[in-house]
Amino acid sequence: MRHVPAVMHLLVCSTFVVLNAAHVGSASAQVQDSAPLEILYGFTLIDGKGGAPIEDAAIAIRGNEILTVSSRRELLSGPDAPRDAEATNLGGGYVIPGLIDAHVHLATSPNRQRAEAELYRMLYAGITGVRDMAGDGRALASLARDSRLGAIDAPDVYFSALMAGPSFLLDPRPQSSAAGETAGEVPWMQAITPETDLVTAVARAKGTYATGIKIYANLDPDLVSEITREAHRQGMHVWAHSMVFPTRPLEVVNSGVDVVSHVCRLAWEGMANAPTEYHHDQVPLYANLDPESAIFTELFEAMKREGTVLDATLAMYARAAENPDNPLSDRCQVAFARSLVARAHREGVPIVAGTDFPAPASDPYPSLHLELEELVNFGGLSPMAAIESATRVAATALGIGDTHGVLEHGRPVTFVLLDRDPLDDIGNLRSVKAVWKNGERFDRSGYRLPEAERPRTPQTSPDSGPASVQQALERWLAMWRRYDLDAVGDVFLQAPAVTFLASDSEELIEGFDEVLAWHEGQGFVDGGFQPDEELWLEDTLVSDFEDSAVVTATWRFGSRIGPDEATRGPLSMTIVRTSSGYRIVNLSMSVRRVGGEP
Ligand SMILES: [Zn+2]
Repeated sequence: MRHVPAVMHLLVCSTFVVLNAAHVGSASAQVQDSAPLEILYGFTLIDGKGGAPIEDAAIAIRGNEILTVSSRRELLSGPDAPRDAEATNLGGGYVIPGLIDAHVHLATSPNRQRAEAELYRMLYAGITGVRDMAGDGRALASLARDSRLGAIDAPDVYFSALMAGPSFLLDPRPQSSAAGETAGEVPWMQAITPETDLVTAVARAKGTYATGIKIYANLDPDLVSEITREAHRQGMHVWAHSMVFPTRPLEVVNSGVDVVSHVCRLAWEGMANAPTEYHHDQVPLYANLDPESAIFTELFEAMKREGTVLDATLAMYARAAENPDNPLSDRCQVAFARSLVARAHREGVPIVAGTDFPAPASDPYPSLHLELEELVNFGGLSPMAAIESATRVAATALGIGDTHGVLEHGRPVTFVLLDRDPLDDIGNLRSVKAVWKNGERFDRSGYRLPEAERPRTPQTSPDSGPASVQQALERWLAMWRRYDLDAVGDVFLQAPAVTFLASDSEELIEGFDEVLAWHEGQGFVDGGFQPDEELWLEDTLVSDFEDSAVVTATWRFGSRIGPDEATRGPLSMTIVRTSSGYRIVNLSMSVRRVGGEP
């Protein structure tokens, strides 16, 4: 169909559609019929199917339904042009389908205000759908409901319910996402063993309003296959990490999952020995791996055969590589990751644009734009292929390919008007003029950067670390005031020797990577944000021994307006002097009194 001249095909279609619009058999047809017939024109159309753009295009819409996509001439002055339509000139530009970020986390440790701010930024940047890859199912269902009903300015939210081996559920992120209940036992964070009744487990996951099961870690190949089979039987999608430990990428793909995330984890397919559990400190031997090798040929053949989509999250790796303090920077070799994406694309493996990290809060555009630029500049995708990766391919990955991702008759009124041509330069996706989602229009001129999202403070170099114990303490407090994940590396010693006893975890947290993960589980994000609650210290006592110091204090967390309501408890902290200033090497915070309790 792609090779039939577009205008010929649409001409036939438009006659049918305009005449039969009243007979479209949807439940909302009667409501739709009372909406005025509108024709938007004055733009070039990129429909998401990968074919040549239609210049001087027009779209006929009624309510939230696209009736016809055609040329302006056809729709406004052709023999079948409707007489009673309201015609609106969009004044030039490029229309593309609404974009989809296929990998976000909106509620690892839920904060409604932060999630809404991120969703708002996404919507005004042309993102009309997101796939959340696991978090607190209660919060996600609420966001999904409110976005679907238009109660918040947000993309439509599709989310997953997580399944993993019991040992993974001890990780601070699922612990946060199940707060108040037990991670592993709640339907959105389930621990799976060979004894689990999978029919019930999948049904419970489905009952959370999730679209897919996320298979995370610590499950053997038989269990991954059984979960996938049962989920598909119950009409759920299956989204897996590309390496599930001990289940390897090829085994994950052969189990029939729909999408695999994280290109760098595909490297484990090339390693004779791979870790058997998620929490490990091994790194693939990238020097011995060749993206062109037969191992990856076999893997990509399997992905094509199974129709497995690759959610590469390439920009996340590229960004980590720029910051040696980022613990991901030595887990992934970005040159390898880029070459592997380029090869997968060349071989015909479908690639979706997913990010897995938020852009700095001060950036008026979200991270999806970074991922798309990365895919074009380093992943071998043309701008057209990149647009498809965030529209048609992404809709397929989310299981909404029948209704979303391309612009044609019968689809919802969900698209983006750009000022400049994204096929000329993928960076032109940052020239949004307006966004339509489910028939509602949002003009970019109405977008306001929330006040809390001030430009981030410049990153300090390791050489300019805190020069005194007091400064180290203040920097730690500042990190909490901003919930700034980047600042964690400026405050703690970045070494396995770091220990941390947090009030919400029963076990000692050991090593900088785990400390960082704990903060992430608490809702810390790159660039930070302004939280509702504040952490502060009282009765602080500093014993300075010149090369090290011990701080004891009472910590409080809550609102300064009602300090008696704040959660509080004792704190002790050991700070050491290093070549890059004073750093925390041990921290212990426990709860003695929960806010509001007598
Ligand atoms: Zn993720």
